[in-house]
Amino acid sequence: MPLPKRRHSSSRQGKRRGEQKIKVSSISVCPNCKSPKLPHRICPVCGYYKGRQVIQVKKKEKEEKK
Ligand SMILES: [Zn+2]
Repeated sequence: MPLPKRRHSSSRQGKRRGEQKIKVSSISVCPNCKSPKLPHRICPVCGYYKGRQVIQVKKKEKEEKK
């Protein structure tokens, strides 16, 4: 079994783990409700995509009843 010759320093470990966290940094803003959402995906808050409603969001209806 191949083994690493030297142990990685704690700074090198931190750099690697820091980069892993940045990968989820692509967030776009919904043009309808202006909440953060993932790009090329339906907005989970209002269910809008490309300027029209694609899915019915049940959470919003419950809030309106209260
Ligand atoms: Zn939205």
